[in-house]
Amino acid sequence: MNTLFGGIEAGGTKFVCILGSGLEDVRAEARFPTTTPEETIRQAVGFFRRQQEDHGKLAAIGIATFGPLDLDRNSPTYGYITSTPKHGWANTDFAGTIRRALSLPVGFDTDVNATALAEWRWGAARGLDTFIYLTIGTGIGGGGMVNSRLMHGLLHPEMGHLSIPHDRGADPFAGSCPFHGDCLEGLASGPAIESRWGKPAETFPPEHPAWALEARYLALGMVNWIYTLSPQKIILGGGVMQQAHLFPLIRREVQTLLKGYLQSPAILENIDDYIVPTALGKRAGVLGALALAMDEANPLPI
Ligand code: ADP
Ligand code: ZN
Repeated sequence: MNTLFGGIEAGGTKFVCILGSGLEDVRAEARFPTTTPEETIRQAVGFFRRQQEDHGKLAAIGIATFGPLDLDRNSPTYGYITSTPKHGWANTDFAGTIRRALSLPVGFDTDVNATALAEWRWGAARGLDTFIYLTIGTGIGGGGMVNSRLMHGLLHPEMGHLSIPHDRGADPFAGSCPFHGDCLEGLASGPAIESRWGKPAETFPPEHPAWALEARYLALGMVNWIYTLSPQKIILGGGVMQQAHLFPLIRREVQTLLKGYLQSPAILENIDDYIVPTALGKRAGVLGALALAMDEANPLPI
């Protein structure tokens, strides 16, 4: 009998909950819209209570959620969603509410770190110890591992809010980030593309100038992460990256911007295997939540 875990992927518009023992053994799944924290968390708890009646007690629950989050286990507000602009969700004790309602250990991390964990365990980052995962969608977010540990630290990485060069002559768009205007997310997220050009990103043909600019901005972000974190791989997901033609554009821009400074065959010769799409696709987030539950039940030695 396999040990069973629960995973919750909490997104701004919907929740996905699964129950299973791993990638090949997902036994049940539920999806519902994200409304108030009380109602949405109650639905998640109800799903796992019903599942436990059929499958027996779970070993742990993992939560992969939009943030920002308090991930400091010594903080009184550990497990909270903190300052999110999402209406009604600021200062929500997400992990604590689930833990008390189900009397189970709860793993808790950002949606992007959880996705990175799933890609490490089952997908594109297997065997690596330092890599990053970026989502380019409604926002831009990043997570990943350094030396086989998910990146935490002071708070957690906020890679989307990087400052990058913005040539206002070539691109007068002021940027859409409510905090910074023309940070990377403000220039290159899906909503930024839509505001700049007046139509949703998914409506542009591959030859539209939006894509060369998008590749340039994403590559500017990437060279900074390459220089600071030295990732062995960069995995890209999110709605905007469904434009598969962006990958070669980004790879070429990254090579151009690095100017031959990093003498790594991974970048100079094998960049097609260095900047890659997710292997697990849309399921990576909720599988990451399951992986967080596994790690919570069997923590790594300190
Ligand atoms: P979220 O970030 O909210 O989880 P997505 O990753 O799907 O959701 O990102 C949504 C954004 O991605 C929207 O701005 C949308 O315009 C853009 N998007 C979705 N699908 C595509 C596509 N096929 N091509 C380009 N952009 C897309
Ligand atoms: Zn910003």
